[in-house]
Amino acid sequence: MSLFTSHQHRACPGHAFGEFGCASWEALSLFLRDADYYSIRYTAFWHYSYSLHVIDSTVPAGYATLMLIIFTDLDGTLLDYESYSYDAARPALAIIKDMGIPLVLVTSKTRAEVEVWRERLDNHDPFIVENGGALYLPRKYFPFTLQAPAYRDGYAVIEFGTPYGELVDTLRAASSESQCSVIGFHDMSIQEVSLRCGISMDLAVLAKRREYDEPFEILDPGADQLLKCIESRKKQWTRGGRFYHILGPNDKSHCVRLLTHFYERAFGEVSTVGLGDGLNDTRFLKAVDIPIVLKSAESARLLARVPRARQTELPGSEGWNHAVLEILQNHGNHRVEPMPADSSIQSA
Ligand SMILES: [Mg+2]
Repeated sequence: MSLFTSHQHRACPGHAFGEFGCASWEALSLFLRDADYYSIRYTAFWHYSYSLHVIDSTVPAGYATLMLIIFTDLDGTLLDYESYSYDAARPALAIIKDMGIPLVLVTSKTRAEVEVWRERLDNHDPFIVENGGALYLPRKYFPFTLQAPAYRDGYAVIEFGTPYGELVDTLRAASSESQCSVIGFHDMSIQEVSLRCGISMDLAVLAKRREYDEPFEILDPGADQLLKCIESRKKQWTRGGRFYHILGPNDKSHCVRLLTHFYERAFGEVSTVGLGDGLNDTRFLKAVDIPIVLKSAESARLLARVPRARQTELPGSEGWNHAVLEILQNHGNHRVEPMPADSSIQSA
């Protein structure tokens, strides 16, 4: 049970509670058992250990409610598909910020692109890039130490993806074998990326800084054969709103599960919301408590794969705003058993 008792008690992960012992092996064993991804490079997780330190153990009087974590796709979800505007989502975004609810961006965009959007959104939470290729955690975000991951530019980085060069080589080989032509980001100039994505040249430069995922278009008939050739080379493919993607064993859901685990380690049980609009959001939406499908060209197929999800009536930022406001309203009304002021969060 989480302790986040009131919305005044901000959900800033820097405000942790208690000093806990290390229980990393058991916790991660459970996590990995449930995560359904034996193929990913999980071995690094075995090396993690945690030490949590209580900064604020005060539990405000009253009723506790589960801490809410919102995971959201960007294109076609928080951002409008064509304009990339999030103006219509500003009301919900303002409340989220005021309540201190973590907003985790989960996208096929590169880290360089996401940093631009985080700045625009004044977002300081962890983020997930390139269809789950890596999870970036701002340093000292969680009140425990991650001993194994790489540290880069102020982030702890947990990589799930396959190096970009290997993906590009595989795509070329699969295209050659299937005799199905493709064009990937590596083939495109900055101008082409800008035109095909409808983004500025500056953003196109950032979109080409890929590390774990190659977006591509299929130019010939024979897509089925091409995709089979990709699979035969032990790589995955998926579809976002605009492109096919070739990637390694990673998926957005792996990062979402791991990050949820970190939040639970810090704050106890949490309630997770996921918002997405594309087929590459399928498993990530299955991994959250409250999945929301944004109306899109793919939403019917996505709903069929995640039948317990709700669908918005409107696409993009307007649908996002309505859905999140509704969840926040229900969440605010949600009451659970009162917790004694000295119970704090218990370690696993
Ligand atoms: Mg999308």
